[in-house]
Amino acid sequence: MAMPYYPGKTIFLRLCFLLTAAAILFLSVCIQVNADSKQVVLLEESFTSRYITAPIEYQLNSYYDVYTPAGLNKKKTNWKKLTGPATFLFEDRIGWIKFPVSNHSSNTQWVFEVDWSKGAFVSLDMFYRAAPGDEYIKIERDARQRFYTWSLQLKPFETGSIIFRGHAPQLLSLPVRLYRAEHYALETLNLTAAVSFLISIIIALSVFNFFIGLRTRDETHLWYSLAQFGFGCFFMFYYGLDHKLYASYPRQLLLIGTCVAVYFGIVGMYFFILNYMDFRKKHPRLYPFMLGMIMCIFLAISLYGHVHTSIPATLYFIFMGGTLIFVLGVALKAAIRGDQLALYFLLIWLLVAVFLAFFDAQAMGLIERTVFTNHSILIAFALEALLFSFALGERINALAQKNFEASASARVKSEFLAQMSHEIRTPMNAIIGMSQLMGLTQLEKKQQFYNNLVQSSAESLLCIINDILDFSKIEAGKLNLEKIPFSLNELIQGVLGIFYSHVKRTDIPLYCSVHPSVPDELSGDPSRLRQVLINLVGNAFKFTADGYILLTVSVNPLASGQVKFSIRDSGCGISAAAQNKLFSAFTQVDASTSRKYGGTGLGLAISKNLTVLMGGEIGVESNEGIGSCFYFTANMVQDRCNGEADDNADSHFLENNEVENNQIQRPTGFLGFSPPAAAIIVWSRVELGDILAIYFIQFNVRVLRCGSRQQLNVMLEEHRQCLLGVFIDEQFETANKLVLAGICTPSVAATNSNHQLEGLARQADKDKNPIARQPLPLKWIFLTGDIEDRTISSIAHGFEMCRWGIINRFYDELLLDSSEADCQHHHAFETIRQGLKVLVAEDVATNQEVIRGFMEELGHEVRIVEDGIQAVQDYKQHNEDYDLILMDCAMPEMDGYEATRSIRRFEKSQIKKPALIVALTAHAFAEHREECIAAGMNDHLSKPITLKSLVNVLNRHFPEPNPNPGS
Ligand code: ADP
Repeated sequence: MAMPYYPGKTIFLRLCFLLTAAAILFLSVCIQVNADSKQVVLLEESFTSRYITAPIEYQLNSYYDVYTPAGLNKKKTNWKKLTGPATFLFEDRIGWIKFPVSNHSSNTQWVFEVDWSKGAFVSLDMFYRAAPGDEYIKIERDARQRFYTWSLQLKPFETGSIIFRGHAPQLLSLPVRLYRAEHYALETLNLTAAVSFLISIIIALSVFNFFIGLRTRDETHLWYSLAQFGFGCFFMFYYGLDHKLYASYPRQLLLIGTCVAVYFGIVGMYFFILNYMDFRKKHPRLYPFMLGMIMCIFLAISLYGHVHTSIPATLYFIFMGGTLIFVLGVALKAAIRGDQLALYFLLIWLLVAVFLAFFDAQAMGLIERTVFTNHSILIAFALEALLFSFALGERINALAQKNFEASASARVKSEFLAQMSHEIRTPMNAIIGMSQLMGLTQLEKKQQFYNNLVQSSAESLLCIINDILDFSKIEAGKLNLEKIPFSLNELIQGVLGIFYSHVKRTDIPLYCSVHPSVPDELSGDPSRLRQVLINLVGNAFKFTADGYILLTVSVNPLASGQVKFSIRDSGCGISAAAQNKLFSAFTQVDASTSRKYGGTGLGLAISKNLTVLMGGEIGVESNEGIGSCFYFTANMVQDRCNGEADDNADSHFLENNEVENNQIQRPTGFLGFSPPAAAIIVWSRVELGDILAIYFIQFNVRVLRCGSRQQLNVMLEEHRQCLLGVFIDEQFETANKLVLAGICTPSVAATNSNHQLEGLARQADKDKNPIARQPLPLKWIFLTGDIEDRTISSIAHGFEMCRWGIINRFYDELLLDSSEADCQHHHAFETIRQGLKVLVAEDVATNQEVIRGFMEELGHEVRIVEDGIQAVQDYKQHNEDYDLILMDCAMPEMDGYEATRSIRRFEKSQIKKPALIVALTAHAFAEHREECIAAGMNDHLSKPITLKSLVNVLNRHFPEPNPNPGS
């Protein structure tokens, strides 16, 4: 497969390198160590504009009374020479700087400017003194300009001294720039244009990425957009652009707005980095640490104004710098391993670092302040915004490529599996069909046994193939679920029926309880629900050597409209470590059990996907050596039934003895007592006792739990008057065992064991009238699989036993029914219509034999052809003779689709009634069925064909008996 070409990658890399190289070159040109030894700011003829960095003297003090330069002189305060980065003004202090100027040119108009927006200072004023003995004169500021600006007239060869007095609420440098007046307008215009351009880049990219984020639903773009928006707003304030936009807004409000913008800028950038570097997935252990770091950064910021400024500043630099270095380290490691995105990340931040280095070097007085150094922070952020936009584009490309590869590989895998399943199904058709045919002949017992083994093995192989197919269908997104109404009771009975033989073989009871609040009529895909249940109950049997299995169905208390199924077992359990990976495909906890029981490790993965498709989720709670409880939820309650029934309300039921929910279908039957009937439950397994109790409470019967023999005796005495019965679990199968366990005395057992359940049913009828009720003899009710000579109907009389079933008994009866059905075995495999004439197109000889055998067994007449061409020819000659054409899809010379199309064309040209064509195919996907229908076939029968599936199809299309039986 051709790989898509992504030209952006190389262009991006070149761009990064080019910009880095340019920045380094620029740096080397600009760096001039500030060794200015000039004594005065000389304004020569060639002077146009520059930042004043030397010779400057400064002082800081907090006396507001020293407000004028005259006052300053009076106090003889201490002027210090500026040697390093001392152009800072500190919070709550007034800072002064002083420098001499000498005009050595013919120009007389000069402009002084401080590159700060007006909101940045509480006050900032300029004073001028022409001669040493004179007073300082305050120069009026030009209020129209966006920065602090003053015009000063200096006669040719005039020398004077300038003082700035500033009060800033925060740490600020004081970049004073001096212009020749005629240059000022032009230079500021250019500078404003450049600054506006860079800020627009940041804001525009923010908006652009916001929409990309919305479209791609990728939070990385949204965080990036937030960061750039925050920084863009900050720079607007920093450069005084806000002055034009919000001239009338109070300064405090603008300051708060700026802080908020910076806050969002930092938050956005931080989370952008975490997402871009995919910390959550790639470095899950570092992720909480990174979240901790951002908390520390904000803690540091929040200290501003409460402690000395240097403390939060230091903390901020430690945390922010530390985090950045750490992230860069992680990116470097990833880049070395070949991660392109990490490489871009590294290059971009290196480039930004170069520009920030200029800014810092200038702030620290290491290099002279220039237009470039003064604005390098804005250039850095604009570049960062631009390059990260490129990198994000690259990231989309990389993700698209990854998705493309993943979906291509899923498609190839799914096609391969479909093909493989087709190849396996074809011989399986012969194996299953032949062994079924053999089963219909007279066989010895031993032969019958071997034949059954062949059939069951073939069927389990088919299950594995179906699992693999299902999984590949889910992976390729091709599995669609039905939404049809179905009966929960019937479905559960079907599932329990499947496990009847397991219960018999293993002696492990399978209990089932459907909470009364669950409506019987649900809506969803019953076959997929059955599949998940069978998988989970099947697993429970596989991994339980001793104990019991309990399937419960309740309404999910956490989500309305959801039903919750849970399958609890007392098996080997699953370790906490294994639980995490349990639902991934091809995962098995213990290879030895898997060898013993077989399995692909796909069951839970499929179940998980199916529950997600059913709108629910799946999970497990397990303790090693104690047992497991797998549960899943599914959106199945039809709208009108969406109640607030509560599964966890079991205990609530027990406490309150009443059920408020109108949705609950109250079963009617012999337990319809009025209070104060009571039942004692002696149950070795608390959870099973709970389930039983819920049912009693439904009928207003008080439930008394009994834990010991002494307690039982006391209870019996206390409640003798109103006792409905004592319910004993299957551990005490007989009255004798009860006596042996010391639960009742031999005399009580003798009187009561005869009554047992049938008696109870009759008694209960009488008990419906509480007034007429007399003190009853004790009733012992054994809920066990082995109550001899009682049929389930007598136990379950009005008790809705199938909703609360003890499987052994219940299915004993089913077995009875099915043995009756066995007698009618041959009858079941008869078609309604007899003596059909069938044309079969099938190329594989063994499959031809299977079809021939089945058809003859059913009493139909077949003619078999080997490919599509023969089928078409045969049909053209004998079309009147055939009732049905069974058409294999994959055949040499001409396939079944083409053959069908040409038969349909022939019928059209001859104006004939279309023949019934049923596809025979080993393909199992729904789209193959659609393909068959699109080719003109009427139905579809997938291989391996069984007698039953063939009979079903024939009966579907020929529902009436022969029209003229005599002929
Ligand atoms: P398999 O086809 O191997 O059963 P599953 O996906 O259904 O595949 O199960 C995966 C693994 O989960 C099993 O091999 C077993 O180790 C573990 N497992 C599943 N159900 C249970 C359970 N009820 N008790 C203990 N282990 C279980």
